[in-house]
Amino acid sequence: MALDVHVLGTASARPTPDRAVSGSLVKGPDGIAVIDAGEGFQTRYSQQRRRLKKHSVGSTLKPSAVDVLAFTHGHLDHTWGALPWLQSMDLENRQSPLLVLGPTSSDAIEALLQGASLPDSVAPADLARQWSAWFSLGGASIRFPIRWVLGDVLADRWIELDPHTGKASLLEEMPQPEGWNSSVLSPLPTSHTVPSCGWMVQQGAMAGKFDRARADDLQLTSKDRAMLARGEDVQAADGSTLEAAWFRGGERAAISVLLSGDTESEPPAWVADVSPTVLIHEATFLNEQQDKAEEHQHSTATGAAASARAVGASVLALTHYSNRIKSSTGPQQEAAAEADGLPVVALNDNDRLVVDDDGGVDHLIWTKEGWTAASIAPNR
Ligand SMILES: [Zn+2]
Ligand SMILES: [Zn+2]
Repeated sequence: MALDVHVLGTASARPTPDRAVSGSLVKGPDGIAVIDAGEGFQTRYSQQRRRLKKHSVGSTLKPSAVDVLAFTHGHLDHTWGALPWLQSMDLENRQSPLLVLGPTSSDAIEALLQGASLPDSVAPADLARQWSAWFSLGGASIRFPIRWVLGDVLADRWIELDPHTGKASLLEEMPQPEGWNSSVLSPLPTSHTVPSCGWMVQQGAMAGKFDRARADDLQLTSKDRAMLARGEDVQAADGSTLEAAWFRGGERAAISVLLSGDTESEPPAWVADVSPTVLIHEATFLNEQQDKAEEHQHSTATGAAASARAVGASVLALTHYSNRIKSSTGPQQEAAAEADGLPVVALNDNDRLVVDDDGGVDHLIWTKEGWTAASIAPNR
């Protein structure tokens, strides 16, 4: 029931021989959320699927299990692989519905609701512009059901676009992916040069663990244990009743993963009670390029650590490195120096982060022979 995060690209705007542009996925019990899909995403997705089949037997990444594609913003290193991937899934006869979500500007929402063309104030990289381009490039003729939803994240105002007419209708709230019962997807506003947000997948609080030690003390039979574990009360030999509730620990806290997308450090909406188990944050620059980070509304690794503290994260994972950064050791060290004891890992392409139900986190480091697990102790 854990959350399994696959990071399929850790480059920033330009790919390098070792790093692809952005594109990640979070697999939970309800299905898969894909967060961003830069150039070549479909190839990277199927490669990861094959790696999983070979090295992590039993785990799968069926494309039909992808329930939602959520964009952090419209820059092409985060979006340019989406339409080809959707078209391939259509060619493969995908039937299951897909929710496509992304941030836009309030000006775009007003114009779309009035059926007017987008005003000049809407940036070229605004998702509202890209989507209408995609509709005319074949997105409208995809046969499996897609809901195209854009939102002004700060105002929490969401519209759904009809790909055939381009008409927008106002929604009461941001829809959740179909069939999601135990997980919730939510946007968190960020600060970048175009409308942007991070995305958090949260898996709901669950019943506590079965208290084995107590069952041992009472020398219960395996049949009694099974009944109690299922939540059924048991009649003891002396006629008294053992209540199932006595054998359950307290409710376990929800676990969550927040992916920042591109943002300057400590966006104003990030407050401590968000407290994701894992924050995957961009670290485009090192301290030596702090001025560049500010100029382009990106973060340094140090800034990522500040964001992690602001949002109350238990573990920080870094990604989205500029091509000046040759090894992830540099960002890891700079972030760790500012992290005040918070565990920091620096991701490379195809790495995974597995969050178990108790909030423990494993960093699965991709090597050519499979994944090597390194346990991270979150200081919750
Ligand atoms: Zn980017
Ligand atoms: Zn960007």
